[in-house]
Amino acid sequence: MQLLKKRILQDGKCYEGGILKVDGFINHQMDPVLMKSIGVEFVRRFAATNVNKIMTIEASGIAPAIMTGYLMDLPVVFAKTIQNALSTTVHSFTKDRDYEVVISADFLTPNDNVLFVDDFLAYGNAALGILDLIEQSGAKLVGMGFIIEKAFQNGRKILEEKGVRVESLAIIEDLSNCCIKIKDQ
Ligand code: 5GP
Repeated sequence: MQLLKKRILQDGKCYEGGILKVDGFINHQMDPVLMKSIGVEFVRRFAATNVNKIMTIEASGIAPAIMTGYLMDLPVVFAKTIQNALSTTVHSFTKDRDYEVVISADFLTPNDNVLFVDDFLAYGNAALGILDLIEQSGAKLVGMGFIIEKAFQNGRKILEEKGVRVESLAIIEDLSNCCIKIKDQ
């Protein structure tokens, strides 16, 4: 994912508290060429699994999830705020508060083999909420794919300890002194 690394180094901006802003090409304005290549890479990594549904969480996970779902010809479902649903609580890294995340039981069933796709992996709270929803529904998790992982915030360790396969397209090793250090992979 050289294109992703190039954009992070060129256009990413870091802020206090280990936050990386990628608003110009992922979170606010999107680059469809980059999003397509992100989808292609998730397909390459997860094509050999028995995935039959892509799952994400609104809002920034929707773009990479829909690209991946389109390329794999699979339905895409996203966790959101709706009534009559399974629900869980997630602590928002960026807003520093808990919020309720829900998904209709109509769209997450024991027949589903789910690939979860999202923009960032930080401490893993969003991913743990998704895992909770998947467990409540009886669906199975094939793996989790993130566009950007911040390795220094430990989300991978927590997920891997729960037996989750984690694939990240760019891994940020360090953001201190506003210097973006991306792992070679
Ligand atoms: P986690 O739940 O793993 O702690 O954080 C992941 C969620 O928080 C992602 O869905 C993403 O929206 C947001 N997030 C975490 N770290 C960053 C960051 O450095 N930059 C941006 N733009 N979003 C982040």
